[in-house]
Amino acid sequence: MFNQMEPVKIIGAGLAGCEAALQLAKNGIPVRLFEMRPETKTAAHRTGDVAELVCSNSLKSDQGENAHGLLKAELRCYGSALLGCARQARIPGGKALVVDRQRFSAEVQFTLDDAGIEVVREEIREIPDKLVIVASGPLTSPELAESLTGLLGAKRLSFYDAIAPIIAADSIDMNVVFAASRYGVGRDYLNCPLTRKQYDRLVNELLEAELHPMKDFEKSSLFEPCLPVEEMARRGRETLAFGPMKPVGLTLPETGKRPFAVVQLRRENTEGTMFNLVGFQTRLKHGEQKRVFRMIPGLEHAEFLRYGSMHRNTYLDGPELLLPTLQTKVRSDLFIAGQLAGVEGYVESIAAGLVAGINAARIAKTQKPIEFPEPTMIGGLLKYITTPNQNFQPMNANFGLLPLLNKRVRGRAKRNLMAEMALDAARKFRRNLAV
Ligand SMILES: Cc1cc2nc3c(=O)[nH]c(=O)nc-3n(C[C@H](O)[C@H](O)[C@H](O)COP(=O)(O)OP(=O)(O)OC[C@H]3O[C@@H](n4cnc5c(N)ncnc54)[C@H](O)[C@@H]3O)c2cc1C
Repeated sequence: MFNQMEPVKIIGAGLAGCEAALQLAKNGIPVRLFEMRPETKTAAHRTGDVAELVCSNSLKSDQGENAHGLLKAELRCYGSALLGCARQARIPGGKALVVDRQRFSAEVQFTLDDAGIEVVREEIREIPDKLVIVASGPLTSPELAESLTGLLGAKRLSFYDAIAPIIAADSIDMNVVFAASRYGVGRDYLNCPLTRKQYDRLVNELLEAELHPMKDFEKSSLFEPCLPVEEMARRGRETLAFGPMKPVGLTLPETGKRPFAVVQLRRENTEGTMFNLVGFQTRLKHGEQKRVFRMIPGLEHAEFLRYGSMHRNTYLDGPELLLPTLQTKVRSDLFIAGQLAGVEGYVESIAAGLVAGINAARIAKTQKPIEFPEPTMIGGLLKYITTPNQNFQPMNANFGLLPLLNKRVRGRAKRNLMAEMALDAARKFRRNLAV
């Protein structure tokens, strides 16, 4: 245990770093918050502002029965400062929490000033000693990334996301897919079988579908082992059939014959509530992913828990390196927060900042760090990013992270019930948070 009177150092005044700083300040712990911008730039930020939203100005849904709505409700319950700033900067945006980005940054700056937190404009190149939170984000500066690599191991830091979509297990048509691993070695995968005609149609649609535009700095980082599925289709009509969709070692249970092609679905979590479309990393727009991938036999009603994406992203191998408290395993006074910890998205990054801030405050006050309860969205996310997983990739908030219900309910009623139970658990847990 530590008896920390000197300031906790936080690297990065982005979403996670500012939330962590304000949680520490709320607990009376002094903070030094370091930010390298505007002097040292990143490839995506445009200003020197704190908590800059680098792309969209939407913090996604604010509806209770939506996974992002639930995440916000939990953050509100735990007293998230940045969510308060977002409400102050809100502009009309339907069911989503949409903000005026300049006003949002100004609100965060004002709240930091009010809490007596100075933003020190300096690039940190080495991980400091003593209590520190690294919240340097997906565009962590190269020298700091190197220092992290030295401390945590070279293979433990990734610089690129090639994410395949994840769908809800109970939205897969089990009458169509069959469970089998290639060459009869186990039944670990679900296989969606395609005829030649269905395959051709899928390839046509992949070639025609609308894509997310690539930022200049992302073009150079597209690398061969993780090509997007539509790019593979573009290289030749049969490429997919000889690549991720090859049917070798697989036969249809009814006929014993080999299908023309298969889409394999791999279990994403221990509970088996989420499945990943193997090799289907993609830059298709979200609506297009829904439209095109629902043409795959067995996925006609697929519920997308996470859409595929491809972009620059620095993140740690959380399952190997992190505890659910967001401390690193190698140094209990070193916390990782935000997107670097392996969560994906603005609000998820704020949540990881809140957890790291609360736990760093507990350590500073010689209290034990606390694990957030699993049946909540934040607890589920932390469990996911710290549970052994050979194929670990960053994760966003979704209902597949919550425990299974013990009764059969579907659709909106299911999500409402899950959200209610999660929020109930969060409210009970809040009592333990008083440090
Ligand atoms: C191009 C891009 C677009 C994205 N668009 C979206 C989107 O539209 N919606 C969404 O939900 N998510 C999006 N994300 C994902 C993610 O939610 C955001 O990147 C989010 O800002 C992450 O929060 P963070 O606090 O972890 O990092 P950031 O908000 O990036 O904050 C990290 C801060 O650390 C600073 N820093 C880095 N290295 C150092 C150093 N060595 N010393 C001092 N300071 C340092 C940076 O300048 C930055 O201010 C996007 C990510 C990228 C890369």
